[in-house]
Amino acid sequence: MLREKIDAWAIECADRIAHKHRQRALTYKGLKEESDALAIWIYETYMIEGIKRQTPVIVYGHKENEMLVSFVASIKSGNPYVPVDSSVPVERFKQIIQASGARLILSPKTVPDEIKELTDLNLIIKDNISLFDVLDFYSRYIGQVPPTEWQVGLDEVYYIIYTSGSTGVPKGVQITLRALESYLNWVNTAYQPVEKSEVYLNQAPFSFDLSVMDLYMSLSTGGTLWSVDKEQIANPRELFESFKESEVSIWVSTPSFAEVCLMDKSFNQELLPNLKRFLFCGEVLTHDCASKLVQRFPKGLVENLYGPTEATVAVTTVTITPEIHDKYNPLPVGAAKPDCKVLICNSEALTEYTKSGDLTKKPEILPEEERGEIIIAGPNVSIGYLNNPEQTAKAFFTWEENGEKLQAYRTGDAGMWKEGQLFFFGRLDFQVKLHGYRIELGDIEENLRQIDWIDNAVVLPIERKGKVDYLHAFLTANKDITSEFEEAQAVREALRSSLPDYMIPRRISFLERMPMTPNGKVDRRALLGGQK
Ligand code: AMP
Repeated sequence: MLREKIDAWAIECADRIAHKHRQRALTYKGLKEESDALAIWIYETYMIEGIKRQTPVIVYGHKENEMLVSFVASIKSGNPYVPVDSSVPVERFKQIIQASGARLILSPKTVPDEIKELTDLNLIIKDNISLFDVLDFYSRYIGQVPPTEWQVGLDEVYYIIYTSGSTGVPKGVQITLRALESYLNWVNTAYQPVEKSEVYLNQAPFSFDLSVMDLYMSLSTGGTLWSVDKEQIANPRELFESFKESEVSIWVSTPSFAEVCLMDKSFNQELLPNLKRFLFCGEVLTHDCASKLVQRFPKGLVENLYGPTEATVAVTTVTITPEIHDKYNPLPVGAAKPDCKVLICNSEALTEYTKSGDLTKKPEILPEEERGEIIIAGPNVSIGYLNNPEQTAKAFFTWEENGEKLQAYRTGDAGMWKEGQLFFFGRLDFQVKLHGYRIELGDIEENLRQIDWIDNAVVLPIERKGKVDYLHAFLTANKDITSEFEEAQAVREALRSSLPDYMIPRRISFLERMPMTPNGKVDRRALLGGQK
């Protein structure tokens, strides 16, 4: 199992670096010793006071070694972890603590005072602290090993990742160890990483499921995870300096991140001589981006993976060979993971089926070249959203085939199969991807309506070259708008306490009233028509 694999590197290659972030490195020996000790501390601290096994533990930070130690320690103590990036606004952090029912926050960082002071969050208070600097507390257990019976079992939840939810509250996707193992067996077979030799780029914060790809491919194969943080990403010169010494051989990022790097001419094989594979997931990989990468990195294979957090990172993949590149535009997202069904169904029929729960009303699978909604069924599909039966019932269902019952998820993505390849045609709902971030427009709208002088809010994605370029919010207010500029700034300021920066609309317009369609819905097309 995964834990045994990770621990085994501490013997086989004790001094190999498991994680590097700036000047700080964590060896496999260090990872094992520290996670063992911390697991015992968690068990002795957490599993008292009537707290049940499998109660989530929040790990708060941004790319620190201690985050990895905390992830592994949490699962060694039998509890799933919830990664929360330190860029999260306080209100959203609070929502995650409340929604997850977590009672403990592990953090190498200073947790905001607003969180520490919140007594209604039900966090454990031990010696007057509910939050701690990881290192100080568990050092007395170094050298001890937690019993294997404690660790998260195959069908227990291993991690929970929160994604944007259309109702304004994030949804916690629960991933079991079985789902994670199933995903890892697939990618490690498909890409054949060389054990104890690869260096993986980690671009995504650990709170996004894309990071699960690099983090666990690396830990399961004795690789080195090379993290770049948000300050480095914002400063290209520093980023490129760090690339030079990184020895990255497997690149994992959103296509958007690669596109930004491609703007610099020095982004080529000379900068990253060991680079042999690009693994992309999370948003459209454009033809143009793939061509540039193939030209600049003669030794690098470009892989396009597709999948949602709810199905453990990805479920289809394709290598963009010259044939695939020349034949298809848009590019396909590939063939399915062998033990997983990726099917196309009619959306209305699916809604009816999931509502009724009647297995005999199963919708038919659409034939090749017919477009419909992509559904995913198999061992890597999440068991549902934590403490959220309503949203779970809408998105998850049972798919029965040949007497076998599989957990299934409707993605809300439009797609079709053609010539053995899956093609992605955008969303069927109001979820968008902006620079790789998954955003429910309804989430922003709900937060806008929370501002007391805002009556109604509609947020639209504005596209450029086939991708979302920025978000435009249209608002009606219950007060006079004297200066659009100043009021827009006030709206942004108000949103900052509840939404991450990437969800704050770049353009904000105030309207007298929302345009309506004949059936009484906001006329989004009319809004788009009015936008320059
Ligand atoms: P997330 O849960 O953040 O990984 O977002 C999942 C969504 O990202 C999917 O439902 C798709 O809409 C989109 N997505 C993931 N991979 C791809 C891809 N290779 N091409 C286009 N869209 C993708």
